[in-house]
Amino acid sequence: MSSSLQPISMGVLTSGGDAQGMNAAVRAVVRSALRQGAAVYAIYEGYQGMVDGGDRIRLLSWDDVGSILHRGGTVIGTARCPAFREREGRLRAARNLLQHGIDRLVVIGGDGSLTGANIFRQEWPELAAELVQRGEVDEATAQQHPALMIVGLVGSIDNDMVGTDMTIGANSALHRIIEAIDAITSTAASHQRAFVVEVMGRRCGYLALTSVIAGGADYVLIPENPPDEGWEDPMCALLRAGRAAGRRDSIVIVAEGAHDRAGHPISADYVRQVLEERLGEDTRVTILGHVQRGGAPSAYDRWMSTLVGHAAVEELLAATAESEPQLIGVRYNRVRRAPLMLCVEQTQAVAQTIAAQDYAQAMVLRGGSFTEMSRTFKALAEALPSVAPPARPRRIAVVHGGGLAPGMNTAARAAVRLGLDRGHTMLGIRGSFEGLINGRIEELTWGAVEGWTALGGAELGASRYIPAVEQLYTAARVLETHGIDGLIIIGGWTAYQAAYQFHAERERYPAFKIPMICLPASIDNNLPGSELSIGADTALNVIVEALDRIKQSAMAARRCFVVEVMGRHCGYLALMSGLAGGAERVYLPEEGIRLQDLQADVEHMIASFRAGRRLYLAIRNEYANSHYTTDFLCRLFEEEGDALFDVRQAVLGHIQQGGNPSPFDRILATRLAAHGIDFLTGELERGSATGAFIGLVEGKITTFPLKQLPDMIDPAHRRPLEQWWLELRSVFRALAPLDVEH
Ligand code: ADP
Repeated sequence: MSSSLQPISMGVLTSGGDAQGMNAAVRAVVRSALRQGAAVYAIYEGYQGMVDGGDRIRLLSWDDVGSILHRGGTVIGTARCPAFREREGRLRAARNLLQHGIDRLVVIGGDGSLTGANIFRQEWPELAAELVQRGEVDEATAQQHPALMIVGLVGSIDNDMVGTDMTIGANSALHRIIEAIDAITSTAASHQRAFVVEVMGRRCGYLALTSVIAGGADYVLIPENPPDEGWEDPMCALLRAGRAAGRRDSIVIVAEGAHDRAGHPISADYVRQVLEERLGEDTRVTILGHVQRGGAPSAYDRWMSTLVGHAAVEELLAATAESEPQLIGVRYNRVRRAPLMLCVEQTQAVAQTIAAQDYAQAMVLRGGSFTEMSRTFKALAEALPSVAPPARPRRIAVVHGGGLAPGMNTAARAAVRLGLDRGHTMLGIRGSFEGLINGRIEELTWGAVEGWTALGGAELGASRYIPAVEQLYTAARVLETHGIDGLIIIGGWTAYQAAYQFHAERERYPAFKIPMICLPASIDNNLPGSELSIGADTALNVIVEALDRIKQSAMAARRCFVVEVMGRHCGYLALMSGLAGGAERVYLPEEGIRLQDLQADVEHMIASFRAGRRLYLAIRNEYANSHYTTDFLCRLFEEEGDALFDVRQAVLGHIQQGGNPSPFDRILATRLAAHGIDFLTGELERGSATGAFIGLVEGKITTFPLKQLPDMIDPAHRRPLEQWWLELRSVFRALAPLDVEH
């Protein structure tokens, strides 16, 4: 709460192109501000509303931003506003803000909008003085608000801003693109056609590059890395080789800003002509256009925007006239602040570097993982190995273990293709570790894994089977007879256990003395050494979509919903779906449930329904408490709630393991598989045989020796000792309803 007598008033606006997730940010800004005792105004239609004033600047209440989390676009509107580019327009805007006592702004937009905000901030004292002089604002008001404080959030589907790993809307746009590519793939494959798909990104190839990987497409053209002169021939040769190796379709992704090295635009239609003329393929063009801005925001865009919206308010409340304005973004899934104008300048510098045709530098400026994705893609798309065939190819086997996780197939496909690219012979073990014991091993070719990128489930089979001690001998014999030189194990907790066991028994069974690497794949996100596991993002999206439906179904009555989600002893899915789905309460296994908590919950529930609440959404992790089950919670709430509200439960169950992998899971799976193959190749070249597990730690792919596994886990609860996401509980609490304190 502000210490001054006058409450702090802040404004929030969305400006420039709309992006999914803007609503989640607005909601978080409004609720965090109210929580802190500040008044918050929506400025409708971006800067246009600020210039126009009147009812385009309106005070918002807690409930005004209810039921908007799931909506695409922005409910407070956005516009391009030429008037704000002129001083006269900004003068009117300053008058309108001063009339409401607003001197703090959260601006959600692209680099244009943020530049405009900064100009406005710099001019503010002058503008205020002129308004006093003109008699439009009184002196006391101007003195009370000597400075304008701003904070920027980046809303842009292009992911084109320096200072944040992801911009609001980019992940949802990627969802739309992947939905389209998956659909196109099925029709293209039926007719053996070629498709050219144009995606957004005038200056940034992020959407094109990530979608070519996540969509399992063949060729990509991005502004940062134009193809060499005469690129048409190698492109056609690559597509021809892919066809010969078993592809039924060819898909080329073109960023809308793609051009050749001389800067001449390359249009989707030109690519179509090339394919038709040189390959004789029936080729269609699909320009995705505004579809990419549409639809419901993805789970990621909801929780990430919530985090940055919350942090923006904290930043703004702590700001002073002297403090440098900040951009609030994310780095490795954590909120990160950076000087706003520096970010804008660096963003514009990338654009200038591209315009100056310094493409090597443009790739450097985009960052390490962008370059890495570009390299990985090239290796994936090439049907022919990039190395000369070795005298004796090494034999690497791929196996799954643990519960199903969407993205297992994506990881297996990437491992197979990248392994082949390194000259290895790739094998698949069917039926998990049980299949290994039974010798169900077959060679996998480039074409054998075709189409696996987008496929949910696990083509090779996955089970929680762990070989018993007496079966280790057989397992070792099978590895020996099949001449397996390395193992890539993609799976969850039990896969890690099996790998650990093999590793621990390597003295007794020398066949286990081979390099092996575990890739985390589990919807529960409960694996050590990785902040995220393959499958967790897909499950989160499934849950969030289900929550949207559940909420809609509850609109007719006053209702409490208790939704049970998976996760075993890890509360990741429960907390993140609570954040992304706008739940009132989450029950986590890390915290357990006590009777006194339930009593408090019931009291708050009753109070809030009496105050007019229509829906109370609680999310309970399946293992939050073995006695206070979901059913028990529902009965308790029903009984205690009397006739004030009714209670329903929804146990989401195995739909959370189903579904096709989300774009993030496909990219994570591909990156992890690439590093896994690099690791095994390195070990084989050195003649060493380390057993390891790999994961994403603060944005970097990191490997840990298997012998370190016991030090990193809580074995009783089958979860890592460190869980980074637990700190996000404070944001969840800050956004829980005002009448509910936990
Ligand atoms: P984005 O924010 O997505 O980059 P634009 O560049 O179109 O989108 O900017 C959105 C709005 O921000 C503009 O219509 C204008 O009102 C304001 N704006 C952009 N650049 C400036 C500027 N240099 N000075 C003042 N206002 C600006």
